[in-house]
Amino acid sequence: MFPEKIVAFLKAFDRVVVGHLPTPIEKLTGTFPDDNGPSVYIKRDDCTGLGLGGNKTRKLEYLIADAMKRGCTTVFTTGGIQSNHARQTAAMAAKCGLACELFLTPVPGTPKVNYNDNGNVLLDQLFGAKIIWCEDDDHVAVRMDERAQELGPQSVYTVPLGGSNPVGSLGYVRCAQEILEQSQQTGIVFDAIVIATGSCGTQAGLIAGLEIAGADIPVYGYCVSREGEEQASLVSDLLERCAGEIGTPSVDAGKIHCNGDYFYPSYGVANAPTLEAIARLAKQDAILLDPVYTGKAMAGFLDQFGKGTFASKKNILFIHTGGQAGLFAYAEQLKA
Ligand SMILES: *Cc1c(COP(=O)(O)O)cnc(C)c1O
Repeated sequence: MFPEKIVAFLKAFDRVVVGHLPTPIEKLTGTFPDDNGPSVYIKRDDCTGLGLGGNKTRKLEYLIADAMKRGCTTVFTTGGIQSNHARQTAAMAAKCGLACELFLTPVPGTPKVNYNDNGNVLLDQLFGAKIIWCEDDDHVAVRMDERAQELGPQSVYTVPLGGSNPVGSLGYVRCAQEILEQSQQTGIVFDAIVIATGSCGTQAGLIAGLEIAGADIPVYGYCVSREGEEQASLVSDLLERCAGEIGTPSVDAGKIHCNGDYFYPSYGVANAPTLEAIARLAKQDAILLDPVYTGKAMAGFLDQFGKGTFASKKNILFIHTGGQAGLFAYAEQLKA
């Protein structure tokens, strides 16, 4: 594996250096004691350092560099009310001296208490972002258009949902480089990477980065919002766009692994195994997962690990993509 090939690839792209990188890798000794099973490590992308951290920081380093290069002064983005992406966009805008407007939509089935004003929403407001409350995605499109007309369309940079376009995916191409460099430094070679997958930029970026470096490490995505097949085809679409727009290599469909068995009942609604996984990791490893992404992914991974799906692996890396601010919006369920 050749992380230096990723270094060379990334030279062509502007990046604002904000994140506390590289993020540390720790061993999960409490939840996964290695009697004779695989060792499980966690990469702390919840500790990227910007506004409580998370995976969107890496994407925004490239997206906001692009916005600034284009001379834009206001950043728009959208997401559910408790969007971690919206919160990190608000923080990045504050850091870079840009205005930020967040077009947030309700998520059916989410808690009544705290959801609309605590957690990420509280932080969005502290970072000085303007929140525009929308009914659904169609309404977001209409309101974004109206606001862009008011502000002057040239001054506005619109970051897509989850920061997941080719430019945003560069953040996880770079994360693949970081993981391979950490492997070289520690001598720990990972033979599987496990993540939560939603808007696809994290998974697509990692897969593209590993491909550039010639590292044959499978990336297992646990879906948070849709069935596995549908998710895999969206990851594949984004990889194709990456190949066309930023020049990453093309990737065989067989290298895209998405498991849709654990996101039920729907996006943003925590199921019982998710709440259990959150409690378990907190007690056994002092790791705070979140109810929407990492808790669901860990619940799925724990189930598959228990069934022996990963028995042939030696060292597994779970990437903690963040989301803890959301815990405070789900207190109602977590306290029970
Ligand atoms: C956005 C997000 C993800 C999913 O990443 P995608 O690139 O959208 O697939 C995972 N975990 C957390 C905490 C997130 O906020």
